[in-house]
Amino acid sequence: MIELRAVSKDYNGHRVIDTVSLKVETGERVALFGPSGCGKSTVLHLIAGLVIPDAGDILIDGEFVATAHKNLREPQERGIGLVFQDLALWPHMTVSENIAFGLRAKGIPQAEREERVREMVGLVRLGDYLNARPAELSGGQQQRVALARALALRPRIVLMDEPLSTLDEELNLQLRQEILRLHGELKFTLVYVTHSRDEAAALATRIVYFRQGRLDTTPRTGRTA
Ligand code: ADP
Repeated sequence: MIELRAVSKDYNGHRVIDTVSLKVETGERVALFGPSGCGKSTVLHLIAGLVIPDAGDILIDGEFVATAHKNLREPQERGIGLVFQDLALWPHMTVSENIAFGLRAKGIPQAEREERVREMVGLVRLGDYLNARPAELSGGQQQRVALARALALRPRIVLMDEPLSTLDEELNLQLRQEILRLHGELKFTLVYVTHSRDEAAALATRIVYFRQGRLDTTPRTGRTA
C-alpha cells in the first residue's frame, strides 16, 4: 500500500502540492487525473523519491519512506518501476540490453538476467526483437520495451506518467490492453498519471481527481469517469 499523509511540496515559494492525503491499496490501479500543471507528476515523483516533500509523510507497505525535507528510503530501495515520458530508452543499446540495464545495476547474476529478459520480452511480445535497437522499432514497440524494462525488477509498485500520450489512437488503445494484461499477470500496484479522462477510465479501478495541487473531491455521481 502507498500512503501520503498531508504531503505538501513547494517550488520557488509556490505550493504545488497542498496537504495531499491519499491511500492506494496493494494491487489497485489508480489514475491521477487532472489538467496540465495541477501537480500529478509531482505526486509520482514524491512517491518514487525523486522529489522530497516539504511537509507530511509518505509510507510504502507501512514503512516511512519520506518525511518533511528527508528521504528515508532512496528511490532504488522502494521497489518501484517507472514508465515516464521522459525516461527514454538507451539508443545505443539493444532491446535486451535496455531491459537488462536495471538488473545489471542491481547486481543480478548474468544467468538470471538472461532468464528475466527472456521472460519480459515474452510478456511484451517482443521476442523477435531482442537484438534490435530502439530506432529500429515503432513507437508502440519502444513503449513496450520501456514497460518491460520497468517490470523486469519485479517492482511492487509501477508508476506511469502519461506513457501513451505520444502514441496514435490505435496504438494507444493497444497499449492500454497490454498494460491491463501485464497488471493481471504481475499484480503490481499501479499509479497512472493522465490528463485523458478516457485513458483514466479504461485503465483504473479508481480515479483520483486533482486540481491545483489538491485532491478534488467534488461528487461526480452519474459520470463514468
Ligand atoms: P502535472 O503533472 O499535473 O502537469 P506537475 O506536477 O508537472 O503537474 O507540475 C505542478 C506545478 O509544479 C506546475 O506549476 C509546474 O510548473 C511546477 N513544477 C513541477 N516541477 C517543477 C520543478 N522541478 N521546478 C519548479 N517548478 C516545478
